[in-house]
Amino acid sequence: MNNSQQIQQKYQKNINSICLFCGASSGNNPAYTNKAQEFGRLIAEKNVKLVYGGAQVGLMGIVATAVIKNGGKVVGVIPKFLSNIEIVHPKLSETIFVPTMHERKEVMFDLSDTIVVLPGGFGTLDEFFEVLTWKQLNLHKKNIFLMNINEFWTPLVTTIDHMINEGFVKYSNRSLIHVIQEPDEIFI
Ligand code: AMP
Repeated sequence: MNNSQQIQQKYQKNINSICLFCGASSGNNPAYTNKAQEFGRLIAEKNVKLVYGGAQVGLMGIVATAVIKNGGKVVGVIPKFLSNIEIVHPKLSETIFVPTMHERKEVMFDLSDTIVVLPGGFGTLDEFFEVLTWKQLNLHKKNIFLMNINEFWTPLVTTIDHMINEGFVKYSNRSLIHVIQEPDEIFI
């Protein structure tokens, strides 16, 4: 094992706070909501703080509710203008109101040591690619997990492999993303 793998392993074992990016919708297959609940339970069991977008809606709301129900800590970060549209979760340990979407992403990133991406839409993709490109530029070393519930991310992973094959993404950058199937793979 080389030095960077050792650091990576050490880092993974010391997860204190997870930044969650995922849909403001829940999808139309119960697999998404079931896995989101399981993930929330596990976060609470592992005594890890959840940092997320602060809303009650969608998969994000489901994970947050599961963490809270199981006695865990949740910090929500939400722009003021969105707090009516996305409905702030009423039971959070802490809610941080920020002025803009950009600040939301920055605060969520700063408060966490690990990034986990569940299925979602445009917002989730925006958030995922921002932290991924920061990592590509060596601006951070936080692990980024793409949870491939119901093979949701497989077409995206295929597109990323296509980008590599066509010479637009470095092969070595493929390892910046950890594609996982189950929530507990984050803690291995
Ligand atoms: P979505 O994946 O589109 O359901 O959105 C998931 C979350 O991302 C929601 O909380 C949105 O408010 C947020 N979001 C949407 N667009 C953006 C954006 N351009 N930058 C950052 N977050 C966004």
